[in-house]
Amino acid sequence: MKTFAPGYYKKFKCIASACRHSCCIGWEIDIDDDTADCYLSLNDKELKENIDFSKGDSAHFILKENGRCPFLDENNLCKIITKYGENALCDICFEHPRFFNMRLGNEEAGLGLCCEEAARIILENDEEFNLVEIEDDGAEVIENSEKFVNDIRLDIFKIIENKSFSVSEIFDKLGALTSSGFFDFSPEEAEKILRSTERLDKNWDEKLDLLKISSFSPNNITDENIKQAIRNLLTYFVYRHCPADKSNPDFEKKMYFALFSSAVIILIFLSSNDKSLENFEDIARMYSSEIEYLES
Ligand code: SF4
Repeated sequence: MKTFAPGYYKKFKCIASACRHSCCIGWEIDIDDDTADCYLSLNDKELKENIDFSKGDSAHFILKENGRCPFLDENNLCKIITKYGENALCDICFEHPRFFNMRLGNEEAGLGLCCEEAARIILENDEEFNLVEIEDDGAEVIENSEKFVNDIRLDIFKIIENKSFSVSEIFDKLGALTSSGFFDFSPEEAEKILRSTERLDKNWDEKLDLLKISSFSPNNITDENIKQAIRNLLTYFVYRHCPADKSNPDFEKKMYFALFSSAVIILIFLSSNDKSLENFEDIARMYSSEIEYLES
């Protein structure tokens, strides 16, 4: 089995203490059994006191009252890495923000948008979307055509990357691939759905307020960097969530999720006063943290 990943995959490196939205705050992390056994075998009081090892449930870090992981130090560095090295991390902490999916017999890896550094790399990518085969001794570029035989997503990526299409035209063309033949999107309905989910960050409500005052008009965006970020955003959601085979019963649902997610992020951005690329990336990061993992 081969593992493929987007060309930008290997650019990622956790920015640790420079991260403004650390993934070590607010998320309850389950520890896989092998790592939990390893932690239990160590003569380390701090590990034992700050992990819930109770039977019947996965072991997990006991978050502090302010939501911080007990092993996050005052400089936002991980004490487990500092003391034992990266290999001592549990699977979730080791892999984050990477994801892995199976598609047409191959494994696909990617970076998740919920991490601010990953979001920056994904959305600022200025190269055509391409996959590389990941090997221990480095990454070898292969032709898209080789990887994407029988993969409907290649047709979708071609539409997204066609610079002669406006953002609205891209949404129209992708909507036409669904059985309804168009992308049916209502900001009011979107707001209602998104309000009903649990919050990680209370600032998400302020972003949702912006959905009340907008209509979906992506062609109002003229900044080329933002337009490229939108193309990258659509590609990301399709790559990560859509099946490769159009006859897969989940195709419709996942395609709609990719379009819906991108539309929500664009809409919030259009209604924001801050029209910078950094703000676009931050809205995408927040959407991913709050909503995307509910879908996976
Ligand atoms: S969110 Fe990303 S950059 Fe920030 S601490 Fe986590 S992995 Fe590192």
